[in-house]
Amino acid sequence: MSLEPHRRGWGLSSRFVALSLLLLLVVQAAVFAVVQANIQRNAVQQVAQELEVDEKVWQRLLDQNAQKLSQAATLLAADFGFRSAVASGDLATTRSALDNHGARIGASVTALLDSQLQLTTVGEGQNLQALQGMVVQIATPLSRSPGRGQIAMLNNVPYQFVLAPVRAPVLAGWVLMGFPLGSALLEDMRALSGVHVILLSTPAGTARPAAPTVLASTLTTKGIGPLLEGLNAQNGPRPGNRKTMSNLRIADESYGAQPVQLTPKNTGTDQASVQTVLLRSYKEVLEPFRQTQLALAWITALGVVLFGMGSWWLARRVTTPLRSLVAASKKLGEGQYDTPLQNQNRSDEIGDLAVAFDKMRVSIGAQQAEIRQLAFWDRLTGLPNRVRFRDAVHQAITQRQLPNRPDPAPSGTMSRPMSVVVLDIDRFKLVNDVLGYAFGDRVLEAVAQRLSGLGFDAGDLVARLAGNEFAILLSQSDALAADTLAQKLMKSFDQPLTIAEQTIDISVSIGIASWPHDASDADGLLSRAEVAMYAAKTRTTGVQQYEAVMDSSSSVALSLLSELRHALEHDELRLFLQPKIAQLESRPKAAEALLRWQHPVRGLIPPLEFIPFAEQTGFVRQLTLWIFTEVARVWHSLQSDGEAFQVAINLSTRDLLDPEFAQRLDAILAQYRVPASGLCLEITESAIMDDPQRALTTLNQLHARGFKLSIDDFGTGYSSLAYLKELPVDQLKIDKSFVMAMEKIQGDAMIVRSTIDLAHNLGLTVVAEGVENAVIYHALKKLGCDEAQGYFISKPMPESQFAGWRTGWNAKLIDNRRDFGQSIPMPLN
Ligand code: C2E
Ligand code: CA
Ligand code: CA
Repeated sequence: MSLEPHRRGWGLSSRFVALSLLLLLVVQAAVFAVVQANIQRNAVQQVAQELEVDEKVWQRLLDQNAQKLSQAATLLAADFGFRSAVASGDLATTRSALDNHGARIGASVTALLDSQLQLTTVGEGQNLQALQGMVVQIATPLSRSPGRGQIAMLNNVPYQFVLAPVRAPVLAGWVLMGFPLGSALLEDMRALSGVHVILLSTPAGTARPAAPTVLASTLTTKGIGPLLEGLNAQNGPRPGNRKTMSNLRIADESYGAQPVQLTPKNTGTDQASVQTVLLRSYKEVLEPFRQTQLALAWITALGVVLFGMGSWWLARRVTTPLRSLVAASKKLGEGQYDTPLQNQNRSDEIGDLAVAFDKMRVSIGAQQAEIRQLAFWDRLTGLPNRVRFRDAVHQAITQRQLPNRPDPAPSGTMSRPMSVVVLDIDRFKLVNDVLGYAFGDRVLEAVAQRLSGLGFDAGDLVARLAGNEFAILLSQSDALAADTLAQKLMKSFDQPLTIAEQTIDISVSIGIASWPHDASDADGLLSRAEVAMYAAKTRTTGVQQYEAVMDSSSSVALSLLSELRHALEHDELRLFLQPKIAQLESRPKAAEALLRWQHPVRGLIPPLEFIPFAEQTGFVRQLTLWIFTEVARVWHSLQSDGEAFQVAINLSTRDLLDPEFAQRLDAILAQYRVPASGLCLEITESAIMDDPQRALTTLNQLHARGFKLSIDDFGTGYSSLAYLKELPVDQLKIDKSFVMAMEKIQGDAMIVRSTIDLAHNLGLTVVAEGVENAVIYHALKKLGCDEAQGYFISKPMPESQFAGWRTGWNAKLIDNRRDFGQSIPMPLN
C-alpha cells in the first residue's frame, strides 16, 4: 500500500494558493485596466487641448507674419518716389521699385493694382500672366481689411499675400506682395510650441477629393500624404466651429492631428486649397504615465510573490496538521491504536479536531481490544476460543509449508508433524441438569485449569472450542507422542475434581488428529480430531486416533460402505455369541449376539471398526436384520432341556427410528417360528435419547410383542431415573467401564451396587458386562447381580463353537475359582 495520500488533481494548499493568486491578479488587472483607460483618456484630452492652443499660436504666427509683410508693403506704398512713379504712370520705375522693395523684405511676388484692383504691373522678372487669373480673388478680401494676410497657391507654391493702398493723395492703386510659405515658418512653429506642422495642398476641381500633397513638414518621415487624406476630407465646416482632433499613426507612433485650413475651402475656383496639420505625439504625453504604469507592474509582481508565499504559508498551516490526521487515520485503519495524535495543544479548530480525533482513537482502541477479547477468547475460562485456536493451527501449518525457510532445521522442520487433541467431558449434560449450570461452569473452569497446568512446549496452545469441548495444539508431537500425552491426560481425570467442597468424578473422551497424516489444513485437522473424539465416545475407548473409516464423508468410508454391502451379500459376516451366566445357578442361560466381519484380506474385523460407521450411514439397519435372521435361524438349536435360552441382539438408533421395524422382525420370527420372548433386545440410552418420542413408540411395539428389552451400557448415558420408569424395559446392563473398575475405584463399586439395588426396586433384572476376573464375578454375585458376562466366563466365540463350549461348562469350577483373591473395597452405609 502506498503511503502517499491518494489524491485526484490538486491538493488543498495548491488550490488555496492558486485561488488567492487568481483573485489578486483579477484585482490587479482591473486596476491596471482602469488606470490605463484613464491615462489614455487624459492623454487624448491633453493632446487635444494642446493642439487647440497650438492652433491659436499657429494662427498668431501667420498673422504676425502677415503684419510684418503688411508693414513692408505699406512702407513701399508710402514711398514718395514710388508714389510719383505710379502717379506719373512711369512703369519702368514702378517695376524696379516693386522689385527692390520685394527683394528687401523677401517677397517673391510684388505687383501694382489699380484702384479697381486690376493688375497694372508686376515686379521685374515676374510672370504677369500667372498672377492675372487670381489677383481679383486674392485682392478683394484683402482690400476690405488690408492689415491681414491672405494665403493662396501660385504656381503650386503657397503664398501669403498682403495689400497696401497707394495714396497720391487720393487712392491711386494698391501694392500686392506675396511671400512663399515654407519650412522656415514651420520650423519656427515647431521651435515655438514643440508641435509638428505639415503644410499641404489639395488640388481643386476634381470630383473626388484627391490625395493632398505635402508641401513642407517638420516630420522627416516620407509618404505621409495618403495618411492625411481622410483627415482632409473630414475637415469640413463644423457646427459651433469646433474642430475635432483625429488620431494618426505615423511610423509606428501615435499622434493627435489637428487640421487647420489656410485658404477658404475650394469654393468653386480652380485654386488648390492649402492646409496645415498640427501633430502632437502621444508618446511625449504618455511618457510620465509610463513610469507610473511600470511602477504598478512592479508592485503587482511583488504582490504576487508576497501573496503567493503568504497564502502558501497559511495553507501549510492548515494542511500539514490535516496530513498528519490523514496519516493517523491510516494507522487506525491498519489497526494501530497506540500512537497519540499530534497538534492536540493547538488552540485553533485544528487542535479541537486533533483532540476529538484522539478521543476517537482511544475509544476505538478500547473497543477493538474488547472485540478482540470477545472474538478470540473464551470469557468463562480465559482460554483462547475456537477462532483463535483455528488461527494458531493454521499458522503452525503455514509456517511448516513456507518454502525456503532461512535455516531449514535439521531433519526436515518443514514436515515436522504436529497434532491436535480434542477433549470432551463425558456426561456433562448430566452435571448441568443435576447440579445446575453455575456448578457446570465451575467444572469447566476446573477442567480448563487442569489442562493449562499440564505443562506444554512453546507453540502449544490450550483452547475451549465450545460447551464442554476443549482442544490442545501439540506443535511438536506426532501421533504417537500425542497419544502418550492424551493417555496421561485421561489418567489425570482419575483424580476427582473438588468444587465448592464437593468432589466430582468426571471422565473425558479424547480424539487425536495429526498433521500431515490425517489432514493438510487447519479446518480438516480440527474436524478430524473431533470425529476421532466422537468415535472415542461411542466406543468408550477414552482416547482415539483419527481413522478415515470414522468419517462417513471420507473416500475411505465410501469404499468401506461398498465393501460392507459386498460383505453382506457374499457371506463375509459371522455371528459370534458370548454367554451370560445366571449367577444364582451358575449356569449359562443367555448369550449376546455379536457381529464379526471375516474380511478376505484383512481377516477378522472387530465390530467397533465398522459398526459406528454403519450407524452413521444407516447401513446398520441391514446389519441388524442380518444378525436377527442369523439368531432366529440358530435359535432352536440353542434350546435345550426345555428351558428357554435367551439370545440378546444389539439395536441401534436407526432401528428405533424405523416405524416399520417391529413388523420386519415379525416376518423373520414367523419364518423361523421363534417366540419373541426367546430374544432380548439391547438398546443404549443414547439411542433412545436421540429421539425419545419415536424411540418410545418402537419400544412399546417391541414390548407388546413379548421381546425382552435391556438398557445397554447403563451409566454412560443421560437417562434420569424418573425417565427410566416410563420405559417398557426388563433389564439394565451395567456398562463394563464401571464393572471393570469396581475392583479399583470405590466410587464405581458404589455405582454398581446402587444400580443393582435401583434396578431391583424398579422390578428390573441386572446384567453386568465386562466381568474379567473372579473377584468381580463373586463381588457381583454377592451384590445380587442376576447375570454376568465377560472374558472371565468367555470371550465371544463363533456360533458354531457355542454348543461345544456349553457342554464343557463347569459351574463348580467358576464358583471355586478365587485366583484373583482380592476383596473389593465397599463403602460403608
Ligand atoms: P456391546 O453391546 O457393549 O458389547 C459388548 C462388548 O464388550 C463386546 O465387544 C464384547 O466382546 C466386549 N466384552 C465382553 N466381555 C468383556 C470383558 O470381560 N472385557 C472387555 N474388555 N470386553 C468385553 P465387541 O463384540 O467388540 O462389540 C463391541 C460393540 O459393537 C458392542 O458393544 C456393540 O455396541 C457393537 N456391536 C457388536 N455387534 C453388534 C450388532 O450385531 N449390532 C449392533 N447394533 N451393534 C453391535
Ligand atoms: Ca450390547
Ligand atoms: Ca455393553
